[in-house]
Amino acid sequence: MRRLVLAVALLAFGGSASAQAPLPFVLKQVGPGVYAAIDGPAHKAGSNAGFVIGDDGVLVVDAFFNQDAARALVSEIRRLTPKPIRYVVNTHYHADHTGGDQMLRDAGAIIIAHRNVRGWVRVNNINLFGDRITPELRARIEALPLPDVVTDKDLTVWLGSRKVVVRTVLGHTGGDLTIFVPDAKVLFCGDMLWRKVPPNLIDGSVSEWAESDATFANMPGAAQIRYIPGHGDVADMKDVREFRGYLLDLRRLVGEGRKARLSGDALLQNVAPKIKAMHPDWTISDRAIAAEVKYMDQELAGTKKRPVPQSD
Ligand SMILES: [Zn+2]
Repeated sequence: MRRLVLAVALLAFGGSASAQAPLPFVLKQVGPGVYAAIDGPAHKAGSNAGFVIGDDGVLVVDAFFNQDAARALVSEIRRLTPKPIRYVVNTHYHADHTGGDQMLRDAGAIIIAHRNVRGWVRVNNINLFGDRITPELRARIEALPLPDVVTDKDLTVWLGSRKVVVRTVLGHTGGDLTIFVPDAKVLFCGDMLWRKVPPNLIDGSVSEWAESDATFANMPGAAQIRYIPGHGDVADMKDVREFRGYLLDLRRLVGEGRKARLSGDALLQNVAPKIKAMHPDWTISDRAIAAEVKYMDQELAGTKKRPVPQSD
């Protein structure tokens, strides 16, 4: 399924939509003036995004994979409010979250990201696609806008009297941000949270990731918080715990397989049926689980290559 998702997303990255095209995402109000844009069943947006309407402007979270989806997001914001679009916060550098940044910038947004994103967005996204890269996709990645404001610390953004807290967190890439709207009890998690689908571990550290997700699930008032994942539907505290449980299950099963001296395909054949049985309502493709086991094995072996932190 992941291969299909990617193929559709790749097409959408370069394609153009007609004016009558249905929205590539489902817009869900998750608090007063706070919206989650959840990737539709055809995965044309490539990931989730969202936005926060404050007193004097709008802050957008992520920009989807392509300009068409980002354009549709701008139209939806315009339908809801005449206030200026002032910021887009990228949760991390992956192109399925930053691919539409130029559309947001053209709409007036300043791009905020983790400090590492400036060095990674045009370079590491090419590695991310591996042998699935095309010349057109490469050219688009190399032309992605660089963030305007970067941070390696927590940041408070004020939309008039509305407070938005941008936090640096560890786990998915080494340059991850979450966005919390305290008055609405909404946490945009980016790819620190996936709901009922396996996460992309290519740049991740499962041990850091599971620790960060524990802090999300233990936030004050967690039972009332809406958690917006990077992929999958709007989540709650139970989903955060379940996702963390998946990461820990994967680590334990791969660790047990390694202890039994399994590697490569034998390790995969050992782990895949067990983790699928433990998470029966998840969508776990063969391609996805093969990647999960490979990257988890590398992390436990201490051979995992992660993106190198960047200086300004
Ligand atoms: Zn990602």
